Amino acid sequence: MVILFDEQLIPRNRAYVDIEDRGYQFGDGVYEVIRVYGGKMFCKTQHLSRLEQSAKEIRLHLPFSLERLDTLLEELVSQNRLREGTIYLQVSRGTAPRNHPFPEQARPMVVAYTTEAPRPLQTLREGVRAITEPDLRWLRCDIKSLNLLGAVLAKQKAVDSGCQETILHRDGRVTEGSSTNVFIVKDGQLATHPADNFILRGITRDVVIESAHELGIPVTERVFSVEELFRADEVFISSTTMEVTPVVSIDGRKVGTGSPGPLTRQLQTAFEKRISHSGSPS
Ligand code: PMP
Repeated sequence: MVILFDEQLIPRNRAYVDIEDRGYQFGDGVYEVIRVYGGKMFCKTQHLSRLEQSAKEIRLHLPFSLERLDTLLEELVSQNRLREGTIYLQVSRGTAPRNHPFPEQARPMVVAYTTEAPRPLQTLREGVRAITEPDLRWLRCDIKSLNLLGAVLAKQKAVDSGCQETILHRDGRVTEGSSTNVFIVKDGQLATHPADNFILRGITRDVVIESAHELGIPVTERVFSVEELFRADEVFISSTTMEVTPVVSIDGRKVGTGSPGPLTRQLQTAFEKRISHSGSPS
């Protein structure tokens, strides 16, 4: 098992992160999680360009080109013989004496490693339970930053309530889940929050929107309220690791019939087709 450390592939136990790495001290960095299906990265280009965009937004210069990073990630997957799993990739602003302003000399630190993980088939089939909570995060949720404390606290509330996800809202307007995007279905129409500064523009969200267009399902990117969420016929969440997961109850109330709905199922099927076309056999 090797990891990517700066520009080299080395064994995990040889990696060394300084206590003054700014990712560690300030959460000063950005990251990506990329799914691997059948040994191939899914939506690789989209993830790499989002990483580039996040880095640009925090004025962090990647220490080498995206093409080089792409090659190194391919090598990482191949050397680890990863078939089904994820790549976690992060770039911090590097190591420097602790001080808030950007250091003048630090080299940004790239780290990536792989984890084997099967698809979450049971939750895809049965759905998950969710709770709602006020969105306490900052106003640049479009940046995939290492600062995840708001998300961590929100997710823990779900776990404490015996649920799997927390759906966040600002003054009654639904933004997204703690680590997912949220879609509702009402009268055959899909809605999800616009891709502005209040949400992360999920790669899976984009895939879902594209699939809906292909299937002729109307999609609107618009703000909707917590009341609308409760009245929805179907609700689902999307992310790289959770794919298209039905939400079957929210705050203890059933969503629709309490079972995954037909449009959710259709979009799950469309998603699976894309996985099988993009990934195996390689
Ligand atoms: N919103 C947030 C806050 C997230 O952390 C994630 C997962 N990274 C998503 C949405 C979904 O994004 P993606 O589909 O790119 O995994």
